[in-house]
Amino acid sequence: MSDWCADEHEPLAIDRGQGVHVYDTNGNGYIDGNSSIWTNVHGHSHPVIDSAIREQLEKIAHCSFLGTTNEPAILLAEKLVGLFPPATLGRVFFSDDGSTAIECALKMAIQYFQLTGDMQRHQFIAFQGAYHGDTMGASALGKISAFHKRFESFGMPVCHLEQTTQLQGIDGEKVIAIVIEPLVQGAAGIRLWPSGMLKELRHWCDENGVLLIFDEVMTGFGRTGKMFACEHEEVMPDLMALAKGLTGGYLPLAATLCTASIYEAFLGGPERTFYYGHSYSGNPLGCAAALANLRVFEDEDTLEKLPSKVDHLAGGLKSLAEGNPHVAEVRQCGMVSGIELAGGDGMLGARCCIAARKHGLLTRSIGDTVVFLPPLVISPAEIDEALRALERGISEARGQSLPA
Ligand SMILES: *Cc1c(COP(=O)(O)O)cnc(C)c1O
Repeated sequence: MSDWCADEHEPLAIDRGQGVHVYDTNGNGYIDGNSSIWTNVHGHSHPVIDSAIREQLEKIAHCSFLGTTNEPAILLAEKLVGLFPPATLGRVFFSDDGSTAIECALKMAIQYFQLTGDMQRHQFIAFQGAYHGDTMGASALGKISAFHKRFESFGMPVCHLEQTTQLQGIDGEKVIAIVIEPLVQGAAGIRLWPSGMLKELRHWCDENGVLLIFDEVMTGFGRTGKMFACEHEEVMPDLMALAKGLTGGYLPLAATLCTASIYEAFLGGPERTFYYGHSYSGNPLGCAAALANLRVFEDEDTLEKLPSKVDHLAGGLKSLAEGNPHVAEVRQCGMVSGIELAGGDGMLGARCCIAARKHGLLTRSIGDTVVFLPPLVISPAEIDEALRALERGISEARGQSLPA
């Protein structure tokens, strides 16, 4: 805050957006290179999503989801379930954001074992480098020093693993659930998991009666090249958290999906009730935006157009890294990418991002890794433009400027 509030600091105030571009209050345009923190999918001011929200607003903005329901929420739940194979994730529970979607999955998992009489389970398993949100429960699952260290001693019982081989030493009968960001850890700095890992986790969970929770808050809705990251390995979890891209990056809404067998454990008397709800659960405006987001996936063949964009991005990252002494490594999973800078001091990434703004790219870094995670609607030419801006930003931050 002292930097932000310093006299010489000129905050960047974003005023409007159109497609992959956002514009500041001085009228400067930028490619939204981190999809407004990993939320935007089809671009800003998309006519279909805009008008879906307006139409819903003509009817009602919000009404409690406690004891009443609404049409957009019903239709959205049905649509979401339809995105998964039959008899897998058949039930939907709405909340507000990625963190609460995770909280909800954790509480469901805990209560599920209480209701099925399996009382010895008391521990969660998560991973080094994990990020699952900033609320207390989600934060206890996380393991990134800057975010989590100071709260560690206040958290839940969580065992953090580095890799799956460590499961051998774990007493499976004591474990409630394994929680993982499938395929790629986002906040850790775009870190890719080895392939085949989800199958291994599924197998261990099945052998030990442990629930498997996928946090697809960042990876969901096309980011990795398929609708959901778990599709790459054809592994289904027992619970899944969705948020960020759910409304196309328009409004805060989240969903926790679960299997029929988890759902059924909660049926019966009031003592089985899942006492969990937020004031804005099932918000009709958010659900209308999410329905429109899913409609645009179909209307614009968003997923079908991805493979060629993913290839184009791979080519662009390769040429950015090749022969560039300032780039240590590039990592990519679908449209999610990280450019790790060489010889950084932890702030070099941020300096590159600031420098790249002048060349028309707005993005963020995690330490010395610059994240490039654009809206899926981005064109190959815009990918090139963004990477050129980044290349200039890197050179300038390293004290060399490229010829214009
Ligand atoms: C962003 C994120 C969250 C938290 O979502 P919020 O909407 O910011 O609460 C959880 N998990 C992952 C993998 C994320 O990237």
